[in-house]
Amino acid sequence: LVVAEDVHKSFGRLEVLKGIDLEVKRGEVMCIVGPSGSGKSTFLRCVNHLEKLTSGRLWVNGELMGYRQKRGRLYELRDTEIALQRSDIGMVFQRFNLFPHLTVLGNVIEAPVQVKRKPRAEATAMARELLERVGLPDKADAYPEQLSGGQQQRVAIARALAMEPSLMLFDEPTSALDPELVGEVLDVMRDLAEGGMTMVVVTHEMGFAREVGDSLVFMDDGMVVETGAPAEVLGDPKHERTRAFLSKVL
Ligand code: ATP
Ligand code: MG
Repeated sequence: LVVAEDVHKSFGRLEVLKGIDLEVKRGEVMCIVGPSGSGKSTFLRCVNHLEKLTSGRLWVNGELMGYRQKRGRLYELRDTEIALQRSDIGMVFQRFNLFPHLTVLGNVIEAPVQVKRKPRAEATAMARELLERVGLPDKADAYPEQLSGGQQQRVAIARALAMEPSLMLFDEPTSALDPELVGEVLDVMRDLAEGGMTMVVVTHEMGFAREVGDSLVFMDDGMVVETGAPAEVLGDPKHERTRAFLSKVL
């Protein structure tokens, strides 16, 4: 579902991604770990074209992100067309960036109504189902500031799912949460994975990576150092850099 081919990204003279090759199959949960500054967030942002690649190619669900191929030539897409490609990809960030002036329900129906032009009643019915799924059926009329961090993050997941994406990206979704709230968010993500959603998850939660992940990628210094089944990479890392990193976080 996701194919990254020799993805490079530089900010000015700083080369942050130095040739990433990765493939995420439909229904796969890929976890990405690595030290701060290794380029994990930048890679996720490249996947949904929030960052333009310096070079390389990235496909999601058959779409070459940011471009259209026509008669063997590549044409850059306009922002509105990129937004359309991106609507197939849900993203959840470290900081729950819900719209503060909208209720929970308002947050969840916003994109389906505005972007997909879904009838309000239909979007609302779906939003209520999603809120049920993330364990917040009674919070539809609450405002984000009235919710705990864990509840806000679950709303953020419901909001992303409301667009019926074929891919979900998570960038350290639990690292801004109080420890006792981490579990409820991971549980929702686990359910989502079991339901067959394709997911790429940047996380420091090694337990989640081991139990839920189908593959684990260790990134360092803008490169994929090691990738494999989570139990293998965590239990028997092949590279010295992976070993050094894991000895600090496990
Ligand atoms: P963390 O674990 O701390 O979130 P990360 O692996 O997600 O780290 P990135 O956020 O991808 O790392 O950043 C990788 C490098 O790219 C860092 O050196 C960062 O300063 C740099 N960087 C990221 N975004 C930009 C930007 N918009 N402009 C300039 N430099 C950037
Ligand atoms: Mg990051």
